Amino acid sequence: MPIYRNFIGGMHIKTKYSHVSLSAKVWLQEIKERPTLLISPILVFIILTISFEVGVHQGAQVYASAAQAQASSLASTVTSAFSSRFKIATAILNALSVTIKASSEPPSSAMSNWNVLKEHLAIVGSDLYNIYSGSISLMQVVPNFIVDLILPSKPFDATLLGVNILTPIGNGSRTQLLSRTSAALSNYPDITAEGPLTFFYPGWGVNVIQLIYLNKTVNLTSLNLPYNPLRANCSACDEADPSQQLWGLCVVNLDLESLRNGTDPSFQALNPLYNYILWQPGSFSSLLNNSIPRVNIVAVPDNESSLPSSAITISFDVIPGNTWYLDIQLKGGWAPSWELPLLISLPFASLFISFIVLFLKVSQSRHIRLLRSLVPSSDSILGSITHSGSLSANSYSENSKSVKRMDKLLARTPADRILNLIGQLMKGETPVIEEVMDIRRAIEDRSDLYAAPKEMQANMERVLSADVANYVSVLTLSGARPEIKSGYDLKVGVLCDPFDDRRRSSAFSSSSSNNQDGLSPLQSVIEDSPRPSFISLKSPELTKVLEEACMSFSFSFDIGTLRDITNDHALPVLALYMVSVDTDIAKDLKLNLNLFSSFLDKIEQLYNPHPYHNKTHAADVLQMLHTIVKSSLLKCNIVDSSLSQLAYIVAALTHDVDHYGYNNDFLVNSRNPLAMIHNDHSPMESHHCSLTFTTLYQDSYDFTKTWSVADQKLFRSTVINLIMATDMKQHFNIQSKFTSSIRLAGSAGIAAANSLPITEVVDIRQGKGARGGVQARASPRESPESKAVDDSPVIVVTSSVVSSKQQVVPRASRSGTGYVTKSIKVTPAPTPAAPGGSYSPKDDGEKLLCLQIALKIADISSICRPLPVALRSIQGLEEEFFLQGDKEKALGLQVTPLFDREKTGVSKAQQGFIDFIAMPLIRNFVHIFPESYPILEELKRNHSQLH
Ligand SMILES: [Zn+2]
Repeated sequence: MPIYRNFIGGMHIKTKYSHVSLSAKVWLQEIKERPTLLISPILVFIILTISFEVGVHQGAQVYASAAQAQASSLASTVTSAFSSRFKIATAILNALSVTIKASSEPPSSAMSNWNVLKEHLAIVGSDLYNIYSGSISLMQVVPNFIVDLILPSKPFDATLLGVNILTPIGNGSRTQLLSRTSAALSNYPDITAEGPLTFFYPGWGVNVIQLIYLNKTVNLTSLNLPYNPLRANCSACDEADPSQQLWGLCVVNLDLESLRNGTDPSFQALNPLYNYILWQPGSFSSLLNNSIPRVNIVAVPDNESSLPSSAITISFDVIPGNTWYLDIQLKGGWAPSWELPLLISLPFASLFISFIVLFLKVSQSRHIRLLRSLVPSSDSILGSITHSGSLSANSYSENSKSVKRMDKLLARTPADRILNLIGQLMKGETPVIEEVMDIRRAIEDRSDLYAAPKEMQANMERVLSADVANYVSVLTLSGARPEIKSGYDLKVGVLCDPFDDRRRSSAFSSSSSNNQDGLSPLQSVIEDSPRPSFISLKSPELTKVLEEACMSFSFSFDIGTLRDITNDHALPVLALYMVSVDTDIAKDLKLNLNLFSSFLDKIEQLYNPHPYHNKTHAADVLQMLHTIVKSSLLKCNIVDSSLSQLAYIVAALTHDVDHYGYNNDFLVNSRNPLAMIHNDHSPMESHHCSLTFTTLYQDSYDFTKTWSVADQKLFRSTVINLIMATDMKQHFNIQSKFTSSIRLAGSAGIAAANSLPITEVVDIRQGKGARGGVQARASPRESPESKAVDDSPVIVVTSSVVSSKQQVVPRASRSGTGYVTKSIKVTPAPTPAAPGGSYSPKDDGEKLLCLQIALKIADISSICRPLPVALRSIQGLEEEFFLQGDKEKALGLQVTPLFDREKTGVSKAQQGFIDFIAMPLIRNFVHIFPESYPILEELKRNHSQLH
């Protein structure tokens, strides 16, 4: 069991690891392919890092300012406490001074005698000392500059103080004291301070000195002051003020010992947080060392001699003219402790955020890529195809507003809406609620997801004239059948077509009808032998025309040329040529060409001579479909076998066989037997299929009978599916399936096709009267640089599709005079998905869908032929519709829009037909199969010329 568990664990780790490494690889790949993904993360990193660093720096500065302000505030409190000691000294000195002055003033009293005054001062002074003994260590009264009163009395050797201070006695300090006192006298200060200094008794502090002046009216001698012989020499003593004379001085020794030993309570508030130094510029103590520029009174608690330059300095005067300084510095500096760690760590935070941004960008990029490949936006698939400006002369420019407007009007089917909704959800967008409701309704009703939406008819009516809109909607929309006039009594089979009798006699007959000379149409144009697998033509001119009809990119072929040269047997001749000469179908399938020829003859006979739906139309459709397949579909493996090739050829040649000349609505409304047999479901197309196979399965025609049952079934189902797709009522449905299908085709093939959808138009020249002057040169693997070189209008096609069979084939243009020809270069879209092709169908259903679309395009392609050919075809169609209109009138039915020969005909509705039907269909097809671009171009040109 443990072994088993370990095994599972090991597997898990391995899987997880490979997943991670795969992700990293995908990441790197994504960044390699789109280096611009790195821009945002790098910008984020730079901006964040700068912002963070600047922010932290600013924050630290604010913090430092606040700390400095706090320090200043605290320092002010401390310094005012310090200053108050000097105020005490000043107050004591003032008290002594006032007493001395008052005693000398008249009226004279006993107090004027120094000895009496001295006793009085001793009492007052002792009281003051007792009050302020914490701050002061000594008071001295010095009459006539002789220390004569010391309070408290003589706690030390009084002789040190009791000298005449005016006398230099050899002690440096005394000399200096004299000079300083004299200097002080000359400046006439009231109070001065000396120090800091060491007292002559144990202690340390500052001497605060007050000089005492008396009016000169007072007789100093009468005051009985101690005699000082040097007093007479003290000129400064009397020169300070002419009206005053110097009595002497008083001194208070301020005790600052507590500052030096760090026990001063006012400074203790600074101790926990700050380093500080209280100092004076070079002062009295500098007597001991003259080089000292300043004297540090106190440096607490680290006892440093100086602080960093960032320390703040507060200056304050303790007495006028005596300035002290306090340097203060937060322990560890003003910068906050968090500044450095943040400055170091924030770039990593920026880097982390940048990585998150990069992760999001890469994820988003991959998401969008996946989204585009899974559900390409409708614009990329259905949107306009971009071309160079060479075609701008065309009024129907792909980028024109009218195209965009038309795209809007071509409302999406439920399938399109669902795909769009998924796309929106995957992009994280909120879908429009109405859209969701519509989809929900469609699902609830189980309606056809590919059905044309209801607003289609309204959109048609909005932009087309009423009859044209009516015509186009009746043609394509199931619900738009013209109503039968009320009161009309219909009986089944009453309304039959004019060919009814002939059809009954011929359709199910097994004998092929021959020409008057006994030869079948085919036998008249081909050699008698060898027949088994290859035919040879009697006429070289016919060979030339057939080669031209079957070459690639022969989109402008005029079927009239072949009709004329084959004596109106273009259909069987072309089909037989395709099967036995142009392709290897006959050889591959070991086709019995006798049977096949007979079948062709029979089918040709079954076509009715209507103005439009006749055998020449079938030949025209066959030629166009063959051209589309050879140009576009072969390389994408959409037609991947001889069987499917034969299927599309047979489908094209039989797709309108025995057409009644009426549309399905008429057959339904007139209760034609065909509508009855097929229950109104595409009665005409059902009939074409039915007739095709009832004919084929007769012994004299059945070229399939030697095949396997599976092949027979596949052939039959393909032909039926192709023919049934030509019912225009299925138009929007099939087109929607196609667009949905190619949207979901997904992956690189479609993505590449979207990014480089189509050809580059190199040059356009007007080839007026270019009869016989058009050449098509198909050069496999030719480089894009090889353009048309001669002056004649040339179509240069560069395509890997072209086989060697179709080298430089000159082609006579019978498309009429004055027709515009041009030279274009068609470059197939890059083809990562399929070798040689840009689009790769995912299954057989998609292959069939592409063929159905190709057949639908071929069926309406007469409007994409050169204008004279297109006009001839439109005239035929109009006449056939008028004939139906005549019949409708004769039967009393409501005349179908544009079918009334007394009114506007269908030739006037071509722009509406192109806008709503042909252009969207062909544009989507060309978008996926760019080699078919010439069809679209011709259509655009005709659109601009058909009014
Ligand atoms: Zn047709």
